[in-house]
Parts: sequence; C-alpha cells; structure tokens
Amino acid sequence: MVVAYQASTGQQKIDNPYQIALAQYDRAAKHLNFEESIKEYLKYPQREFTVNFPVRRDNGQVEMFTGYRVHHSTVLGPSKGGLRYSLAVDLDEVRALAMWMTWKCALVGLPYGGAKGGVVVEPKSLTTAELERLTRRYASELLPLISPHSDIPAPDMGTNAQVMAWIMDTYSMTVGYSVPAIVTGKPINIGGSQGRNEATGRGVIIIMEEALQQLNMYPANDVRVAIQGFGNVGSHAAAYAHSLGYKIVAASDVTGGVYSANGLDIDKVRAYVQETGGVRGYPEADYITNEELITCDCDVLVPAAMEGQLTERNAPHVRAKLIVEGANGPTTPGADDVFNDRGIHVVPDILANAGGVVVSYFEWVQDLQSFFWDVDEVYRQLERIMRKSYYATENTAEAHNVDMRTAAQLTAIQRVADAVKTRGFYP
Ligand code: NAD
Repeated sequence: MVVAYQASTGQQKIDNPYQIALAQYDRAAKHLNFEESIKEYLKYPQREFTVNFPVRRDNGQVEMFTGYRVHHSTVLGPSKGGLRYSLAVDLDEVRALAMWMTWKCALVGLPYGGAKGGVVVEPKSLTTAELERLTRRYASELLPLISPHSDIPAPDMGTNAQVMAWIMDTYSMTVGYSVPAIVTGKPINIGGSQGRNEATGRGVIIIMEEALQQLNMYPANDVRVAIQGFGNVGSHAAAYAHSLGYKIVAASDVTGGVYSANGLDIDKVRAYVQETGGVRGYPEADYITNEELITCDCDVLVPAAMEGQLTERNAPHVRAKLIVEGANGPTTPGADDVFNDRGIHVVPDILANAGGVVVSYFEWVQDLQSFFWDVDEVYRQLERIMRKSYYATENTAEAHNVDMRTAAQLTAIQRVADAVKTRGFYP
C-alpha cells in the first residue's frame, strides 16, 4: 500500500501533503467518466527512490543524509520536477509534489510527466563546499533515474541555479561529455535560459491579471497585493507586479512579515533582504507575523512559501477576494471549501505557478537544439501559454460548474487518462 489514505472509507484524514493531493484528485476525478483501473493507476507514484549517503563536513567528520526522487507519471513524456533541500522533506511531501507536477505539465500542455525530489537538510547549515559535496553525491545516487530523456530535475525550495550547475557537471563528468539538458534552471553561461529565474513569479502575475479581469478588479494601482514568501517565486512576483503598478502592501518570509498600507518599495525590500537575509526589520513598514499576513487587509493574496498555509482555521478570516497560489499546495481542501462558500476566487497552484516549468521546458528544448532564444521570445511564449491555460481552465470551470482547482485538475487528469488509454497497459 502506498499511502495511509482512507479513500475506501471515504474519510480523508488531511494531515499531510500527499493526502491533500489525493483528496484533490478524488474531487476532480469524480467529474470524469473514465475507467476505474485508470483512475486507480493515476493515484500511485510510478516509482520511488530513497537514497542514504555520506557527506564529509569541512571539519573532516562524515554525516549521513537521506534524499528522495519520486516519479509520479511518465505517461506524457520524461518526468520533470524540482529538487527541494529542507528539513521538512519526507516521502509523502515528495509524492504530493510529484503528482502535482504531473497535473501541472498536462494542464499547460507540456510533453512531460511529473517528478519531484529532495534531501532532508537545512542548506543554510552547510558551507558552500559542503553543499557542493552533498549535491554531487546526491546527483551520483540519482544516476540510475535521471537523463535528458527520462527525468530532468530543476530548482525548488532551498536549491538554486548553482546547485543545478553542480548536478549538470556531475552528470557530464560521469558520461564524459557536457549534457546541459540534464537539468533546467541552470546559470545562463552553461546552457540556462533567459528569463528562467523570473519565470514562476512572472507567470503568477500574468495569471493574477487574467483573474483580476475576470473579477472586474482594476486598475492596477487600486489593487493591493500581499505576498507570503520572498524567495524565488515571491520576490519575482512582487517585482513584476510592482513594475506593472500594483500596490504590494505586505511581504513575508521565514523571518516574519512587513506591512505598509501605502505600498512597499519592492526594490528597496529586495535590497534589504539581500543585505540582511530576511524582510524582518525593514524600516519603512510595520512588522507583522506570517499569520497576520494571511489575514491582512488586501485584495489579492499570493501564498508563495510552502504547502499547508491556508487552512480551515485561518480561511474564514482571509480578507482578499482573490488568491493566486505561487506555492505548491498552500491551501488545504477544508480551506478550499471555506473559500468557495465565501465566494473567494482561488487560482490553483498547477495553473498559477506553471510559469517555472514552462520556461524550464523552453530551456530543455534550447539545450537539445543548441539554439538559444532572446528574453523577449521567452516572455512572449510564456505569456501565450499562461493566458491560453487560464482561458481553458476558466471555460472548464464554467462548463462543469466547478471551482478553478477542480477545473484545472480535471483538465489535466483527463489528458493523462486519455494518454494511458491510447497507450494501453503494458504488457
Ligand atoms: P525559495 O526557497 O526561493 O523561497 C521560499 C520562501 O519562503 C523564502 O522567502 C522563505 O523564507 C519563505 N518561507 C519558508 N518557510 C516559511 C514559513 N514557514 N512562513 C513563511 N515564509 C516561509 O523557494 P521558491 O523556489 O520561491 O518556492 C516557493 C514555493 O513555490 C514552493 O512551494 C515551491 O514548490 C513553489 N514553486 C517554485 C517554483 C520555482 O521555479 N522556484 C516553481 C513552481 C512552484
């Protein structure tokens, strides 16, 4: 048995991300008319890989670390998904994130399946040399699974372009020639794509604009946005929204949050975070906690930190009219029910934060062809795919009379299920 999920009893004990992912799957799949065997098949990760490996610390001592890589599905193509370095990483979290990657890639029409990986480690507790040794050893352990045609990792929480560069180099040294297409989210000078770093945050804001149009909420300078998480996704979303004239009234990270009713100067906040490591203490705003950010006075809430942040407990107090999920899995199914009852429009993660994997796909295509695009081309193609995916999801929501999450999931599940049906069950 893969998970302690009580689907058969109908009781959903929502206490971990995989149970959330499965509950969402059940909600969407019941609107679809497809074979029970395919429905059951798509609940399970295709393969799961656990590695335990030693890393030498700078002081000479050797410590053991645990890492994972889960392929949820390879039906539509090679599996794609990020690598997370965090103490909170466990197998159920990785399973959930891998499943969401399958739906995300299918929803936006990429020729990929879904995967995710992670190492149980606080990256800030390692020196750069230790982080490099840990990454190279973890990459070596993943060699049976990864290749440019089977499984292509990317950055996620706690990892970045430098980590991808070490993985690309480790893989290339092993096979004896350079293989840029083995990872995406690399530095540009070794085959990374223009615009990849900003892609997820930019995509979140493209989707936010579509939703604001749908809700008749404009002009930009009247719209107040609160962003939880100020890392890759949150800070780039904040910067792009700010450049379009939106008022970013609140931002937070693991150190706490800041609020300014007049709007934050995002360039100054970014410079402050660069210097101090967090938003806490930023002088031109009031201090708030992460919990206060979620319920602060704003029009749009962008959770862009981690899963499980919007719950039945805080959902009744959320004041935003629109929630655009930058993070993966930030809303529990119980909170979804509250938002639906309260008429709060939620744009789900697999749509809202798909910009990252879309530009990762562009990067992979450019690497395979050794033919590189300029940033305007990247942004143009990103915008085309994001807007098209929003309309498709909105139309499905209307046609089935369901919320945007269910619409996004059922569109994606239908695409994967159709492909399973066409391919058939092997042997
Ligand atoms: P990151 O590590 O760059 O940033 C994470 C941010 O969240 C940091 O500011 C951190 O301080 C903050 N944070 C961590 N724990 C927190 C807490 N308990 N409360 C409040 N803030 C907290 O990670 P990222 O790449 O920006 O990823 C953020 C989310 O977006 C994750 O759910 C990730 O899976 C998802 N995502 C990322 C990408 C991408 O391209 N990086 C793409 C799609 C989805």
